[in-house]
Amino acid sequence: MKYIGAHVPVLGGVENAPVNAHAIGANAFAFFTKNQRQWFSKPFTQENITLFKNNCEKYGFFPEYILPHDSYLINLGHPEEEGLKKSRTAFLDEMQRCEQLGLKLLNFHPGSHLNKETFEECLNRIAESINIALDKTKEVTAVIENTAGQGSNVGNEFWHLNYIINKVEDKSRIGICLDTCHTFTAGYDIVEDYDKVFNDFDQIIGLKYLRGIHLNDSKKALASRVDRHENINKGLIDIEFFKRFMKDERFDNIPIILETPDETCWAEEITLLRSFMEENN
Ligand SMILES: [Zn+2]
Ligand SMILES: [Zn+2]
Repeated sequence: MKYIGAHVPVLGGVENAPVNAHAIGANAFAFFTKNQRQWFSKPFTQENITLFKNNCEKYGFFPEYILPHDSYLINLGHPEEEGLKKSRTAFLDEMQRCEQLGLKLLNFHPGSHLNKETFEECLNRIAESINIALDKTKEVTAVIENTAGQGSNVGNEFWHLNYIINKVEDKSRIGICLDTCHTFTAGYDIVEDYDKVFNDFDQIIGLKYLRGIHLNDSKKALASRVDRHENINKGLIDIEFFKRFMKDERFDNIPIILETPDETCWAEEITLLRSFMEENN
């Protein structure tokens, strides 16, 4: 079964995320656990937590298909002590916020070397940051997102992700979220080389680590290393990719999240994508 939704807004409180996801016909969703552009956010109240859980139950959302996203400010591979410390504190807070909501996954961007450390140093620091957070939490799996490789971001090549996983102590609580726009702009041709890309992913990282998908079309070209999402069927990723993807059982039973820019299209996109699962589409 495919679980598909979008990264929904939480205006007015985290408890509105499942309400907003239900409104677009989703059976999965993502949201920011706190303001994605600020270091500090108010803690959840007991009321937020209770209402969030009640709404998830009411609309049939299970924790396995809810993929919260961390703040854009966090850099778990930060080359400088202060930035690293701040990032690790904020990341732990986000993991704990997920635990409070009864959630199982936290999606995050791996980090950036900021041209002040080597690739390996950055990847080592990220793994160390993950180990620290996993050590202080119990329920939540850290889900690393692959990147387009823009600027000094690491995580655009499959080996980077494998390198981090290898250094994480608790392999039961580490996973990967593949963003189709990032994969494409990082240089993996998911249109022409569909089989090869996912076979490589399986061989280099392992499909068993795949815990979520960000399903986005791309404004930018293959291997451009620029991260600009586009609505489905409006960008440079051929629609044949999405048709094949929706029929591919390897992507069953994980959250599939739209992060497409025009949110008025989400309900329609979900309906379109589901129609691809039928035989003749
Ligand atoms: Zn994404
Ligand atoms: Zn992106």
